[in-house]
Amino acid sequence: MVFEDRFRQAQRPKYDCLLFDLDDTLYPLSSGIAASCLQNIKDYMFEKLGIEQSKLPDLCNLLYKNYGTTMAGLRAIGYDFDYDEYHNFVHGRLPYDNIKPDPVLRSLLLSLPYKKVIFTNADKIHAVKVLKKLGLEDCFQGIICFETLNSTNKNFASVDKDEPECFGSEIFDIVGHFRQLNPGVELPKTPIICKPSEAAIARALKIAGLNPQRTLFFEDSVRNIQAGKRVGLDTVLIGTSQRVKGADYALESIHNLREGITELWNVEIKSNKGYAGKVAVKTSVTA
Ligand SMILES: [Mg+2]
Repeated sequence: MVFEDRFRQAQRPKYDCLLFDLDDTLYPLSSGIAASCLQNIKDYMFEKLGIEQSKLPDLCNLLYKNYGTTMAGLRAIGYDFDYDEYHNFVHGRLPYDNIKPDPVLRSLLLSLPYKKVIFTNADKIHAVKVLKKLGLEDCFQGIICFETLNSTNKNFASVDKDEPECFGSEIFDIVGHFRQLNPGVELPKTPIICKPSEAAIARALKIAGLNPQRTLFFEDSVRNIQAGKRVGLDTVLIGTSQRVKGADYALESIHNLREGITELWNVEIKSNKGYAGKVAVKTSVTA
């Protein structure tokens, strides 16, 4: 009996799900999308929020570093704006034509007998557009995106009652905060839920019904990889072959999947359990 149980376990695949970041993970950084996105964010901060040009580089850097996304940081320090308008502005003018169809990645994904889910901090419109450009729109069973974790109605943003609220004219001076390091003042919290917050990752897994112990997480961001590891995920850092703390694997490109993680294919596939192609699944993780 003991032998039989062990035998059965050995046949069981290690993972139920492969969880993929989108930007700079499924396509290379060299596409220029990330650089263009940063410029659009700066333009939004200047044109729509009236922030001085000279303050933008430091401010962007600090907000991204401390809050996960610049958008989350802007909300934390007191700027109020419509999330959809922000996403339209920042993503609407990206050079999407730089993203080319990727039949190699497509066949790799379709040959992997696991549920595959996208997990991005971006909005759904952007995620769907990128997947279409890559020719991968039917390779995933769900998308966890900005709208999955956050209410799109800014009036219903989840601000806890015991957290300090900052609205309108009261803008927190985060650049000054780090220059002076006033120990008595805490950084304000953001109502936006996004990676690399461990709570955001845990919430995403819960919504998608995923067990972190049986999920492999692909990311180009080291801090997201490390947060994922703390939540219990196995992790694959994309964009470098140098493993860092928190990364179980490191691949220069997502195209190196087959050589880099051969065990993903060494599983016994039951014919009714494969997820290749357009397989209907019940998980409704799309926002
Ligand atoms: Mg990324």
